Amino acid sequence: MSSFNPCVTCGACCASFRVSFYWAEGDDAPQGFVPHQLTEQVNSFYRCMQGTNNSAPRCTALQGEIGAAVGCSIYANRPTPCREFDANVDGSNPRCDQARARWGLGPLIPVQEVA
Ligand code: SF4
Ligand code: SF4
Repeated sequence: MSSFNPCVTCGACCASFRVSFYWAEGDDAPQGFVPHQLTEQVNSFYRCMQGTNNSAPRCTALQGEIGAAVGCSIYANRPTPCREFDANVDGSNPRCDQARARWGLGPLIPVQEVA
């Protein structure tokens, strides 16, 4: 059984969308865990990862080269949307395909060619 993780050679979703989440996930709240200095305020209820709230998003916590070798510098303390964003290995997360396409990467599930 393979344990290959496609995300370690991708990172596209960390540089495609605004990564926003409930403000209290920040470690400046009592039960928070996301380093708050790497976040910015969106509104009274939400904050986002720095670098993701613009037209060319790239999370400030993302290390490495997209499509080659990447890592999350706060992996153990990443916010909920990052924990819930699955690689699209079973067709359940088309936003993974969208992010990869934005960076010129093909979908994880090969498109079947019609003869
Ligand atoms: S876009 Fe998909 S494959 Fe790439 S890092 Fe995100 S979840 Fe993983
Ligand atoms: S916190 Fe980590 S997993 Fe989440 S967007 Fe940033 S680099 Fe990606």
